[in-house]
Amino acid sequence: MNKSSWNFVIALVLAGLAPSIAEAHPGLHANGFGDGFAHPFTGLDHLCAMVAVGYWAASLGGAARWIAPAAFVSLMAVGALLGLNAVALPMVEYGIAASVVALGLLVAFNVRMPVPAAAALVGGFALFHGYAHGSEMPVSSNALVYGGGFLLATVVLHVIGLTLGSLRVNPVFTRLAGGAIALSGCYFAFAA
Ligand SMILES: [Zn+2]
Repeated sequence: MNKSSWNFVIALVLAGLAPSIAEAHPGLHANGFGDGFAHPFTGLDHLCAMVAVGYWAASLGGAARWIAPAAFVSLMAVGALLGLNAVALPMVEYGIAASVVALGLLVAFNVRMPVPAAAALVGGFALFHGYAHGSEMPVSSNALVYGGGFLLATVVLHVIGLTLGSLRVNPVFTRLAGGAIALSGCYFAFAA
């Protein structure tokens, strides 16, 4: 496919996602691997942030392409461990929403920074995504299995973002997609 047909396909995918924004974050059903895997795909705040991490990592290029997503995945696991048996903090939902806004802006404005700074920033956002669910779950084998599904889905979403980012589509699309993600983050903040 040429560039403009890729743009068309991506626009279609985004248009398909838009109506489901009404359900930004459906309830948690922590019953197993499948539920854990499904959650980032149905929780649009996670989906937007995780795809954006991959997309931004691709535009940073070099070692950032794997270090930034690796930082997100590992710090999300740390966040979940911190959250296990801790109180659910309302601020965490705002932190997730803020992470979506920030990542959208990083994509839209093609912000450049050294790899360690990018990894620290992305990892800091990931703490919120992990903590939110760690704090909702009792310590059990179910929580670990659920967490495994959640982590695997995160990796898949990073790869999708990396792939989209590596296509080097029209920079106008990158601006629009980043802007749309940032706006959706504003919506998540109000819905939180
Ligand atoms: Zn969630």
